[in-house]
Amino acid sequence: MRIHEHFSLLNYNTFKIDVLCNQFVEIENDSEMDILFEKNFFDDNYLIIGGGSNILFTRPFEGTVVKMMTKGIELVDASDDCVVLDVSAGVEWADFVDYCIGNQYYGVENLIGIPGLVGSAPVQNIGAYGAEVKDVIDSVRGIRISTRTPFAFARSECDFGYRQSVFKTILKNDAIITHVRFKLSRIPKFNLSYQGLQRELEKSNVPLTLSSVADAVIAVRNSKLPDIRKYGCAGSFFKNPIVPHAVLTELSAKFPKIVSYPVDDSHVKLAAGQLIDLAGLKGWREGNVGVWPLQALVIVNYEGATGREICNFYAAVQQKVYSLTGIWLEPEVNVI
Ligand SMILES: Cc1cc2nc3c(=O)[nH]c(=O)nc-3n(C[C@H](O)[C@H](O)[C@H](O)COP(=O)(O)OP(=O)(O)OC[C@H]3O[C@@H](n4cnc5c(N)ncnc54)[C@H](O)[C@@H]3O)c2cc1C
Repeated sequence: MRIHEHFSLLNYNTFKIDVLCNQFVEIENDSEMDILFEKNFFDDNYLIIGGGSNILFTRPFEGTVVKMMTKGIELVDASDDCVVLDVSAGVEWADFVDYCIGNQYYGVENLIGIPGLVGSAPVQNIGAYGAEVKDVIDSVRGIRISTRTPFAFARSECDFGYRQSVFKTILKNDAIITHVRFKLSRIPKFNLSYQGLQRELEKSNVPLTLSSVADAVIAVRNSKLPDIRKYGCAGSFFKNPIVPHAVLTELSAKFPKIVSYPVDDSHVKLAAGQLIDLAGLKGWREGNVGVWPLQALVIVNYEGATGREICNFYAAVQQKVYSLTGIWLEPEVNVI
């Protein structure tokens, strides 16, 4: 376990916000958790982080930041049809996806290219191109901070929803995820429900394999998303709003090309990016902060922006979209 005092978080959040925390603790193996409790680290302000790719720091963090760095992918069960893998929270999501593709395990290929760590994937039920991580999660293990007791939740107990889980709601800041168990198929199965992915595969005209699907996902992502080595961002800044049918009917009268996706009998999901675009904000820039010109759902730190600047900017986007559509966009990003 390494502890750093008055530590800059600049290289630990993809928005590239330069703020200090009082203490920064790197957890390299699970037994170190006990020391955190023994030393009363959780008695004051704390934050568990992975890759910092879904966080916006708006001020210095007056407390302890705990970074998960535990590694390990263990095969715990295998049949002709599927495998069960137990993966430590600190494994890079990218490494895990590569491991699955390399071993011909099906289920996470649509989620290639998402930054961050395995332990954070269940928190907001990461999703992309028609897939969500909940579809391959078997269970999630960790420690409850308030009770200092271990927990093991089956998928059904995680209350997964669209960019949502029990870890982002009632257990927010009270559960340290240490392991995620995945059940993956050994039988070829592809999810090509996202039209852009289908089009990309047709364009490249290659046989359908895990690698060709993953390559197509990467091509689609690269065509829309900023390169986080150059620009600060946290991916989609806002959630796609879920609204009653009546709201869609009203909006369709004003904006005939409005896009919607069915959710249940009475609700649809709208595309937040389209609403931002309709408000004329795609490519809008104020100083160091802007709406990414190729994907209106992404807010970028062009250079040296503070968390406060990004906060003011996203509030202005919310206000302008609300004035035009009556819809208030909620951040997907964790604003700290
Ligand atoms: C360019 C880009 C593209 C992206 N594309 C997508 C996408 O397609 N789909 C998508 O869903 N997301 C996307 N994201 C968002 C982000 O990558 C994911 O949400 C990712 O899972 C966050 O992982 P992280 O390790 O960086 O988490 P962090 O940002 O470090 O943490 C996120 C949240 O999880 C909590 N947390 C982290 N680790 C633990 C733990 N071990 N136990 C308990 N709580 C924990 C944190 O406290 C925080 O609340 C994108 C981000 C970027 C920058």
